[in-house]
Amino acid sequence: MSIRLADKFFASQNTINKVMMNWIGQAPSKCDLCDDKFHDDTFIDGKTTMGDWGCMCITCHAAYGVGLGKGLGQKYHKQPDGSYVKVSV
Ligand SMILES: [Zn+2]
Repeated sequence: MSIRLADKFFASQNTINKVMMNWIGQAPSKCDLCDDKFHDDTFIDGKTTMGDWGCMCITCHAAYGVGLGKGLGQKYHKQPDGSYVKVSV
């Protein structure tokens, strides 16, 4: 792979990573489980102990979530511009 091609490759990888870090589309406005608004502008898109996935608030995630990480759940935090960025692994 030439240096130029390698640069292009890594540049596109960075773009993909950046896209994957952001919540795509309309972010949920309330918790799927308790129907309450999210506390601290944070929600978790994750698996629950019931087996279903949902977007939940921190309180519900503490009670019904199975954890954070790949296959478990991702935590998102609201940015000043209104977008949500993934803050967990
Ligand atoms: Zn909740």
